[in-house]
Parts: sequence; structure tokens; C-alpha cells
Amino acid sequence: MLTLTFLGVGSAFAKRNHQSNVLIEAWNHGPDKQDEPNDTMLIDLGGTGNLALHELMQKPGYDYLNMDGSVDYRKLRRILITHQHGDHIGGLEELSLTNVFVQSDPKTGKAFKPQIISSMNILVNLWDTSLKGGMSPMPGRYALLQDFFFILAVRATDTGYEPFQLLKRYQFEIFPTDHIQIERKYDWPSNGVLMRDLKTDETVFFSGDTRFDFETYRGMMTSAKMNFHDVQLVENENPVHASLSELRTMPDDVKKKTFLYHYGDTWDAPEYDFVPEEFAGFAEPQRRYVLFA
Ligand SMILES: [Zn+2]
Ligand SMILES: [Zn+2]
Repeated sequence: MLTLTFLGVGSAFAKRNHQSNVLIEAWNHGPDKQDEPNDTMLIDLGGTGNLALHELMQKPGYDYLNMDGSVDYRKLRRILITHQHGDHIGGLEELSLTNVFVQSDPKTGKAFKPQIISSMNILVNLWDTSLKGGMSPMPGRYALLQDFFFILAVRATDTGYEPFQLLKRYQFEIFPTDHIQIERKYDWPSNGVLMRDLKTDETVFFSGDTRFDFETYRGMMTSAKMNFHDVQLVENENPVHASLSELRTMPDDVKKKTFLYHYGDTWDAPEYDFVPEEFAGFAEPQRRYVLFA
């Protein structure tokens, strides 16, 4: 079984929900039959991510993350980074410094190192332009990204990025998204992820942050059993996310299986009452979605 739980479903600026970060859990049997999953992977960890994890571990079914009242970061084995915005990477410093200084093995002093996964064009900048300032200075030395993480740079090939797997059954294929155009499409790297059950060939689409680009995603979103797409509720001239009015132009059968996330704090205003009827609905935080049974 593969499950997905939103730590939060909010936009970068949301205050009523945490930012849109996700916990993926891979199970040999499932949460009813096991105390904890066999493998875990975060998709992003933003500035509100650590507090969101602290809240999640207090929910039934997530207590394996709770170690005497603190998040046990060693349970978070992998982190897939979609892009460098703070609502997606702003929690990495706290996670890393906790692994090294708070939760290292008291006998050996060894720190747990999660795997960090992304495309090369993101990983190469993640340290130098985002994390280095706070994570490089150590007592007596300067640290590097590989001091905190095992690095998996997924390879770009002619047909897309090389996939990686959890439990040799669940496959993750990242793809570029049209999030911020500095001068042209794709010139600032950001990725979405297509998840695949190799046993059944079912797929689930997760957009990451993207402008509306349905023509590019049509194939993936039509054949997926379930879609998660970011949305911005405010309409503006030069959006960096898909607006609700743009997403409404998708075919009905696609909308019906598409959950919207990354939304602003006004989601429960009456003007959005149509969303659960027209779409699968607004994604809910702290709910374990079963992607593949
Ligand atoms: Zn975002
Ligand atoms: Zn973003």
C-alpha cells in the first residue's frame, strides 16, 4: 500500500493551514496491520513543516513519529524536493540540525542521514543559494550538503527523468513544471511527480507548484486514478499557480478525480461551495489518502 498525507494544504502565505508538504508512506501490508510503514518519504518540508509534523504525530495512526513528545526525524527516511521556494524547503535546516545535534546516537555520536532526492538543476543550487548560510557553519569546520543527506540526483534522460522506487513496487517519476518563468518556460527548475504502482500500473499525479498547463499534463491526469493539483484562489494577471477558473476548464472526468491543494485561507467562503461537487474537493490536511491499495 502507498499512502499520502498532507502535513498542510495551504499556500505559501496561508495561516489557517500549514504549507503544502506531504508525507508518503509505503507499507508491505497497510496501516491497519502495521505500527509503522516500511518506508517513508516527504515531498518537501517548508517553513511550517516541522510544526505540522509535531501536530501530525499526535494524531492516531501517526504515533510512530512521536518520540517522547518530539518528532522522531529518523523516521523520515527520504525527502523529495520539488523546488526551492521557502514553503517547500524552509524546514530542512531544523530537520538536519535535529538529526545531527539532538537525535544523533548517544553512544557513537552518529547522526541519521536521510536521502535527499531531486533533479540536478535543483540540488546544485539548493545548498549554495538556500541552505548553506545556516547549515554550513559547524564547530571547527564548514559542513556540506552531503554531511546531512545521502544525495540522489535523478538523472535526466531523453525521455524524462529516470524514475526511482520505494519497496521495489512504487515508482516515482518527476517531470518539469511551469511554475516561475524568468524569461521563458522551465528556466527556473521546479518539478511535479507521477507515482506508479508497478504491480497494477495505476498512477497518481501530483502537480507540485505549477501554472495552469493542462495541455502538458493531459495524458498523465487523464490516465491517473487520482490527481492532486495546486490551486490559487486569487486571480491575477501573471499567476505562478493554476487558478480555479483555469482548472474549471479541464474535462469533467478529470475534475472529478482531482483534489486541489496549496490554497489560500478563504477556501471555506460560500463562493467555493461548488468545488466539492465539481472536483474531488479541496484536499484535507492530516488525512491518509490511499493511493494504491
Ligand atoms: Zn508552494
Ligand atoms: Zn513555489
